[in-house]
Amino acid sequence: MQEILAQLITPQVQMVGKVFIIFIILLYILSIIWVIRDAYLRGTFPWLWGIVAIIPVVGLIAYLILRPSMFSVDKQEQELVIALRERQLEQYGNCPNCGTPIQKDFIVCPSCNTQVRNVCNHCHRPLEPDWNVCPYCRTRVNGR
Ligand SMILES: [Zn+2]
Ligand SMILES: [Zn+2]
Repeated sequence: MQEILAQLITPQVQMVGKVFIIFIILLYILSIIWVIRDAYLRGTFPWLWGIVAIIPVVGLIAYLILRPSMFSVDKQEQELVIALRERQLEQYGNCPNCGTPIQKDFIVCPSCNTQVRNVCNHCHRPLEPDWNVCPYCRTRVNGR
């Protein structure tokens, strides 16, 4: 029996076994590095998760289940997009005379004093060009 085993475990087999063990260890170390890096990118305690990832297999699975779903860079980007959209909503258009951005409650261009909106005669609020009645005070708009 021992002879058979001795024949089976040739230096080649030992070699393959060693390579396999080294491969597993490398994979394990890489998984810890990946967890630290991923936790850092997601903006959540990288070193804490690195310690958790030291527990073989279980630590990695725990991190995969409990990690935040969004990268912090993505989150920042999303906030930027929202801020930009809000600014675009605020912006009504550009001055027909000089091209200065006009916000939705502007009556005249802040740069060249060109009138860009109609104004209610009674309450002096800015009106959309197609409004017939001022929605703030019910005054009829001139000429309609
Ligand atoms: Zn202007
Ligand atoms: Zn009015």
